Amino acid sequence: MGKLPLRARLATTIGGAAGKMSRLAGRGDGSVIGGVIGLRVEPDLLALLAVGRRVVLVTGTNGKTTTTRLITAALGALGQQVATNAFGANMEAGLAAALGQAPDAPMAVLEVDEKYLPTVLGATRARVVALLNLSRDQMDRAAEIWLVARRWREALASATDCRVVANTDDPLIAWAAGAAPHVTWVAAGQRWHEDSWCCPQCGSHLTRDELGWHCGECGFTRPPPSWVLDGSSVTDPTGRAHDLSLSLPGRANRANAVVALAVAGEFGVGPEQALPRLRKVTSVAGRYTQVERRGRQVRLLLAKNPAGWLEAFDVLDDPPVPVLLSVNAREPDGRDTSWLWDVDYRVLRGRPVLVTGERRLDLAVRLEADRVPFKLAEDVDDAVNRVDGGRLDVIANYTAFQQIRVSLGRAA
Ligand SMILES: [Zn+2]
Repeated sequence: MGKLPLRARLATTIGGAAGKMSRLAGRGDGSVIGGVIGLRVEPDLLALLAVGRRVVLVTGTNGKTTTTRLITAALGALGQQVATNAFGANMEAGLAAALGQAPDAPMAVLEVDEKYLPTVLGATRARVVALLNLSRDQMDRAAEIWLVARRWREALASATDCRVVANTDDPLIAWAAGAAPHVTWVAAGQRWHEDSWCCPQCGSHLTRDELGWHCGECGFTRPPPSWVLDGSSVTDPTGRAHDLSLSLPGRANRANAVVALAVAGEFGVGPEQALPRLRKVTSVAGRYTQVERRGRQVRLLLAKNPAGWLEAFDVLDDPPVPVLLSVNAREPDGRDTSWLWDVDYRVLRGRPVLVTGERRLDLAVRLEADRVPFKLAEDVDDAVNRVDGGRLDVIANYTAFQQIRVSLGRAA
């Protein structure tokens, strides 16, 4: 902190005070408002706060928050303080706040919104950038994610001091990372293919087989990986296999963990050191948390977009454990619920399904079309009352998740 220019010191002080006031006023953790005000005072605040630190950036459509948490846990093995935006505030103000709150941390692991990666990469001169996946978010159209991939590609091409850790199984990611001077390829898998049928390089149809994917027209091919996720184990670059045995459930989290291991490897933290730390992560910002409510075990899962719903279905307990689905359409969720039609709900047949949220009727119409029987519920409490003892899984989109989290937290 002492080595910061005066204006930046002033900006963090004012920003910190604003954040504290916001916290006292009960408006969240206050980090974003502090960052916003800090950036007004010193527009280069993020760059100034990043000077001299080893920075890791994590981006992609799904898994950013969890992967950021896992990387932070793994790098704990180095015994140094790590600055991180653990609450998912992933635009410039949130990142400046995260660095401002940990002025002496020599390392930082930061989740970055997809659209901000080029700016943040330029400002922080990150050592490592992890690219997870790219698919339509609820508000995006396919053309927009292609534009995001193109901007990443341009920014990474000139990042000569940066190591990119990228998922080779996602063709858009492979293309975006392909121009970077230093890439570590990770075979982390891809369940959602709907946004990558076409070759990012020439637009032709991609062919998928047991070896991955390739383009028959221009020859663009899946780069060979040095880290490979296979079921529940990972093979490291030396060819050694390690059992993951994570506490976090599901295939998507195993993919996040393999990326975290590859990033940790770039800092000299091997899988033997990193894995015990990854296994200790049991929930991330309320996700996967199990809460007891009137004798029922309620578990919360977040799904913000079509690919996210597919991954959440993977994590559900076996039938007959009931599931509650909750959908809102506020600003952060996207106002338009037409994305519900991109999700295949038929996997839910054969288990009790309850539906709630402000847009429960949109979801009801969608489930009817997929011939999935369901019942409407007023809210999460009503749903809990309707299931007999035992367990209830909850899948909710962004603001619906936050509402349920608050309501369960209050009387858990
Ligand atoms: Zn092609």
